[in-house]
Amino acid sequence: MPNTSEAKARTTNPSDDEPCFCGSGRKLRSCHKTASPDSRAAHMTRLYREVERTIESYRADSPKQPPCREGCGACCSDYFPVSQVEFELLLVYMERHWSRAEIEEAFDRAEENLLLLERENPQMHASLTHPVDRKGELDAVRHHAGRNSFPCPLLDREKGRCRVYPARPFLCRTHGSSHTFYGSWRERLQPERVCEHIDGGRSHRKITPNVADLWPLYEELADVRVGARRRLLRQYPIFYWLVLYGRHGSGRTAELGSRDNFDLPLSEHNARMAAHGE
Ligand code: SF4
Ligand code: SF4
Ligand SMILES: [Zn+2]
Repeated sequence: MPNTSEAKARTTNPSDDEPCFCGSGRKLRSCHKTASPDSRAAHMTRLYREVERTIESYRADSPKQPPCREGCGACCSDYFPVSQVEFELLLVYMERHWSRAEIEEAFDRAEENLLLLERENPQMHASLTHPVDRKGELDAVRHHAGRNSFPCPLLDREKGRCRVYPARPFLCRTHGSSHTFYGSWRERLQPERVCEHIDGGRSHRKITPNVADLWPLYEELADVRVGARRRLLRQYPIFYWLVLYGRHGSGRTAELGSRDNFDLPLSEHNARMAAHGE
């Protein structure tokens, strides 16, 4: 397993010759022209590609195959927190590929989801809507998160397909397709089911590649790090990000109020967020 500095080196090789994160198929420099190839969003996109390469090469070489595939969406009803930059990558993708009506419908569904969560899982609802820090959030997830009665608002419910598949967050890519690495080693080996199609613990590890070495990289991009100091940023499920951005951001649109996650080099953005205590 590479250590953190080796892992970090793999993402600090920015090039504006890479494909743009919006999924246009064009190069970054000729698509989102104000974006920095050294931004948090560009590094996260690079990390997504690394996850895909790891899983694809496992699939090519291993007789035991992870059962996850596009169109298998039962786990999209699980409670999945994602980081802000990952959510903004979804908005950028939606802005390019979805109609205005489809975007507005996702915001409507998100508001409905929040009402359902309040009724069905008041502990998780309280953790979302009250100002707990990331540790409080992780504790709530550990004790109260489970499967919701509703799927992610970005899922096509009829076809069971993710409608933002090329831009889906890190957890959506790794959950079920790779070793479970969230929590302690003891917890990782627990036999709880990953989903109705996969048992947990050792049997899960036998049919999936190990992407644990990519986790430190993910944390560096999801949180704020300045020198040795690291500040954990809050994460929310996609529906709640939609609720927050719809109510307090640019309204029920995929437009971004701030493009800092895209336009600023990562170290500059980290320093700015640390200085403002954001
Ligand atoms: S974790 Fe389970 S429900 Fe989710 S994609 Fe994989 S097999 Fe399907
Ligand atoms: S983003 Fe896509 S893969 Fe992730 S939970 Fe939503 S529908 Fe499922
Ligand atoms: Zn673009």
